[in-house]
Amino acid sequence: MEVALKVDVDTHQGLGEGVPRLARALTEAGVTATFFVAMGPDNSGRAIVRVLRNPGFLKKMRRTRAVAMYGLRTILSGTLLPARAIALAFPDLIRALARSGFEVGVHGYDHVLWQDRLDEIGTDRIRGELDEAFEAFRAVMGERSRCFAAPGWRTSAAALATLDALGLDYRSDTRGTAPYRCAIGGATFATPEIPTTLPTMDEVMGPELADRHAIVRFYLERVSATALNVHTIHAETEGMGQLETFVALVHALKDRGARFVRLGDIAAALDRAALPVCEVVRATLPGRAGWISAQGPLRAATPPPATTPAGL
Ligand SMILES: [Zn+2]
Repeated sequence: MEVALKVDVDTHQGLGEGVPRLARALTEAGVTATFFVAMGPDNSGRAIVRVLRNPGFLKKMRRTRAVAMYGLRTILSGTLLPARAIALAFPDLIRALARSGFEVGVHGYDHVLWQDRLDEIGTDRIRGELDEAFEAFRAVMGERSRCFAAPGWRTSAAALATLDALGLDYRSDTRGTAPYRCAIGGATFATPEIPTTLPTMDEVMGPELADRHAIVRFYLERVSATALNVHTIHAETEGMGQLETFVALVHALKDRGARFVRLGDIAAALDRAALPVCEVVRATLPGRAGWISAQGPLRAATPPPATTPAGL
């Protein structure tokens, strides 16, 4: 059984507090992972204010105790107080991850802007966000990022085209079942997509999965013994309030014989030419607000271009 852990780091606090705890726990367990870090300002306060206006918020709040989880300073970041930097506030921490053998990639620049306004901002602003993010990564790491994970699993034809131009090894932007190449409308994109295959812990936590044992059991029932499992965790959730549950899950998976891999290792082993081409569709998920991008139906093989018989 192969498991890739994708760690999304969305906030200043998640990087400063959650990531070191996760890195320590993973190292102790002898398990590798891929960290995707938001490279720009922490405007998560704005996202939380948006969520506060959402009628489903109180229900979700009871389930995940968002304020306790995120902390007051994070909620104020980008609202009443200035936005704090994320990656650029902790460059040594990010470099230490790479030195420890973890893979590190780009999780957008302004996570909140991308997640809330991807369809409004237009191609130039999308390119600007990506340029800033990849430039910040280079400033921290001294080399360019080979991979990208879209904030909030939200992508678009404009985003995919802009990312294709960066010549990345892979992206992990969507929810799905297996690696593929993305298509939207008439366009097909070159960069391999390695989707998240399992629901996230914050989506499944609730009255029916109230304790650690129930959550671990939930995942053990859903991991595939034969296909790749990609599990996204959050520095702000599994790295903080849910660390013990996450560590219990890692040990349970190890007991089942799971082999942990980095997404970059999976990408390196892919036969790009043989990857299926699938539509990227917009979907909703239980326990998550708004839409996400998902692996949709297989696109029928594109017939080779018609040739004009000579002489016509
Ligand atoms: Zn994120």
